[in-house]
Amino acid sequence: MSVLPTVAAARAVDPALPDPEPVEAALAALTLSARIQRREVSTQRIEIAAARIEKMRRTPRPAAVPSSHAVLGNVLERRACTLCTVRPGFGPCPFCTGTGCDECEGQGFTKCTACDGAREIAIAELHMIDDRELRLRATYAPSVPLSLDALLREAIDDSVDPPDALTFDLDRSSVFAPYREARVDADSFEGHSFGDALLRARAQLERIREGGQQLEEELHAWARPFLLLTWPEHPPALVLADGTGAVSVLR
Ligand SMILES: [Zn+2]
Ligand SMILES: [Zn+2]
Repeated sequence: MSVLPTVAAARAVDPALPDPEPVEAALAALTLSARIQRREVSTQRIEIAAARIEKMRRTPRPAAVPSSHAVLGNVLERRACTLCTVRPGFGPCPFCTGTGCDECEGQGFTKCTACDGAREIAIAELHMIDDRELRLRATYAPSVPLSLDALLREAIDDSVDPPDALTFDLDRSSVFAPYREARVDADSFEGHSFGDALLRARAQLERIREGGQQLEEELHAWARPFLLLTWPEHPPALVLADGTGAVSVLR
C-alpha cells in the first residue's frame, strides 16, 4: 500500500478525468502541531524586611505550567530601617495614626510595617517568572492554481492527526547532511515538494519558539502529499492522498 497519490488511483475514483495523460507535479502540504512551554523571567529590586526573607524562601513554587510566580533572588544589601527612627522597630498605628486605639492597645504605635519590627531592611532581587503554554496547529500548503486553493484547504482536515505513515521530521529536515552525502530528502516528502510551505511553517514555529527559555516542546509534523494535474485543454485537478491508501480528486 502506498501512501502516495497516483494518476491511476485518481482515475479509479474519478472516471471522468480527462483522457489525455496529464502533466504531474508532486507537491505536499505540511500540517504542524506544536505545544511549547516557555518561561520569561524579569528581575526587579525590592526592599523587604530582612526578617521575611527566610519565609519567602520557603514559599513553595507552583508545579503546574502555565503559571506566573515570583522567586526571591540574591540579597544585595542589608541596612537599618529608616522608617522607624523615632521609635526603632515601631511605627504609628495605621488604625488610629498615633492617638491610641484597641488595635495598638492604646500605645499609638505598632510593629514597623517596613522592617517587621526587626529594624533591618534587605534589598533583594525578585525574579518575576512567567510560564506560558503556546499551541500551534496549522496546515501550510504550497501554492496551487487559484481555482483549487479553497478546495485543497477544505479537503485537509486540520483537527485530526494524519496517519503515522505521513510523519515528517521537521527538525531533521532543517540540518544539512555531512558534505559527502546528499541532503537527505530535506525539503520534500517521498519526492513531493513542500515548496514555500515548509519555509512558512518553520517561520511560524520560530516565532512561537523565540523569546524566553524553552521548558518543554512537543512537535509533530505530517506531510499531505498530493499531485497537481494539468492539461493544455482542460482545467487542472488535484489528487490528494489521505495516508491510508485512499485518494480524493479535487477539481
Ligand atoms: Zn492605634
Ligand atoms: Zn522599621
